[in-house]
Amino acid sequence: MAAPPAQTLRDHQLGRLDGGRFDVLVVGGGINGAVSAAALAARGVSVALVERADFASFTSQESSNMVWGGFKYLENYEIPLVLKLTRSRNRLMRAYPNVITELRFLATLDASAPFPSWLAALGTVGYWGLGQFATRPPSYHRPARLQQLEPVIRTDTAEAAIEYGDAYLKDNDSRFVWSFVRSAIDHGAVAVNYAEVAGMTREGDRWRAEVCDKRTGRRLTATAKVVVNAAGPFVDELNRRWGVRTEHRIVYSKGVHLVVPQLAAAERVLAFFDDSQRLFYVLPMAHRSVIGTTDTRTTDPAEGVTDADREFLLSQINARLNLAAPLTTADIIAERCGVRPLVVEDDGNDRTDIDWTTLSRKHEIDVDRSAATVTVFGGKLTDCLNVGDEVTAAVRRLGVRLGPEAEGWYGEAPAAECIAFQRAAAEVGLDRAPEVEREATVADVLWRRHGPAAMQVVEAVAADPSGAEPVLAGTDLLRAELALYAEREMIVELEDFLRRRTKAALIQRASDLAADPGLAEVRRALGLSPRPTDPADPTPSRP
Ligand SMILES: Cc1cc2nc3c(=O)[nH]c(=O)nc-3n(C[C@H](O)[C@H](O)[C@H](O)COP(=O)(O)OP(=O)(O)OC[C@H]3O[C@@H](n4cnc5c(N)ncnc54)[C@H](O)[C@@H]3O)c2cc1C
Repeated sequence: MAAPPAQTLRDHQLGRLDGGRFDVLVVGGGINGAVSAAALAARGVSVALVERADFASFTSQESSNMVWGGFKYLENYEIPLVLKLTRSRNRLMRAYPNVITELRFLATLDASAPFPSWLAALGTVGYWGLGQFATRPPSYHRPARLQQLEPVIRTDTAEAAIEYGDAYLKDNDSRFVWSFVRSAIDHGAVAVNYAEVAGMTREGDRWRAEVCDKRTGRRLTATAKVVVNAAGPFVDELNRRWGVRTEHRIVYSKGVHLVVPQLAAAERVLAFFDDSQRLFYVLPMAHRSVIGTTDTRTTDPAEGVTDADREFLLSQINARLNLAAPLTTADIIAERCGVRPLVVEDDGNDRTDIDWTTLSRKHEIDVDRSAATVTVFGGKLTDCLNVGDEVTAAVRRLGVRLGPEAEGWYGEAPAAECIAFQRAAAEVGLDRAPEVEREATVADVLWRRHGPAAMQVVEAVAADPSGAEPVLAGTDLLRAELALYAEREMIVELEDFLRRRTKAALIQRASDLAADPGLAEVRRALGLSPRPTDPADPTPSRP
């Protein structure tokens, strides 16, 4: 397979960024920055998006991958937030019928549950109603039924279980973020990864940004009428540097997930109350399970997983499951760790006595008119389309003209295209079961990952059937897909591919990936030369 010209897409985007005059510069390529850039580009706004590491390489790659209204927020009586989030969930489920699918939550209630089972059952009915009945109805199970449903759950201490529906991103948060970056590019935006805003100065009525290409150290400049600060955990730091005033600020709550061998019998979430009466989960991820999450206050956005985090999560899960042998750290395949940027009012008082576990997961969008900036605080992946809408409205208030909204800037291509793709895929044998997933075909997986562009994979397989072979063991990545990743996905480092564009580094151990003979082929196809910092380090990259 011929190696592609290295980083062609990125070079092209960098060239457009340098010296560019934009309506809007979006700083930060997590979900909030990506969706803002895509929403603005879809309204014909000239927009540039810059991310100092890879897209989605900070908070947005560390979530629970849930698209949910937040059943647990009912505990804090956050009805308006749950209402808003369930609506956002439903909107996303309608727009992404294959990428985001309904998932059943099975919550076991034992003596550690903070409320009686009848109240929890009532809560699921209320939650279903708040969610406009968009999922299958909730149900209530006695321990004997629970035992049948999920034999792995310890039912000797269980009083009952409640079951309700929400949804999840089958292919991970970071791939979802990438889909918005791609949409932004497809609608005319400039988007560059490994490009850090190093300086920002006001010149007349425009901002002048100095951007550092982290790959070469080269300095570029670009100007914009409006700056959108979507730097997640770093928004306050940037606003301070730029002299921007806001009504809100953020505090951090750390959340850890551990990926372990598959625990649940079916593709569903197992939910439990931990010893501190906080809900925690066993989540599905391909042929693995993900245990999480924690919720601890920190002041360091880059804090990693500690031994105490591992010990806590493993002990909580071991106490609630019937396992042949208790899980130990040797069972951990990969780890995820991020800080939730939680929004609080900036009353000038840097209080440390905030009870962060009860802090709302809402987002806020602040506009500093005199500085022509918009700042996105907090939020959820689930609420991303609202963030896009609200940022667009804020940018308009700052004097940027918007055009009509382009159709299809988010969501999957029409069902007819999906059906045509499935037919063509079946003709070349891609309707077989994938290696690492239940209840799907290889064609389903390809459609989820690439949409209509997956037709290119079918054509490649038709021309050379060896393209249908998995390229890395224990993953469902096909050889014929590599060309698509190389051309369309701005992959700069091996980790961008293994950890974010795909979930290979989450479902396979780093040591297994590093020893995989297919890795050399991946590198070649993506035009990546081996580097001393390679290969498959599944830990999050930190700038
Ligand atoms: C443990 C955990 C579980 C979660 N689970 C869920 C869930 O299941 N469902 C859900 O909906 N939400 C969930 N969330 C919330 C969601 O993940 C976050 O709200 C969201 O990812 C925040 O995105 P962001 O774009 O604001 O920040 P980020 O993703 O952190 O993006 C900000 C980006 O700005 C970049 N940046 C910073 N400074 C600069 C600069 N000077 N120049 C250029 N770029 C810069 C950073 O590199 C970073 O990539 C969870 C969060 C956590 C931590």
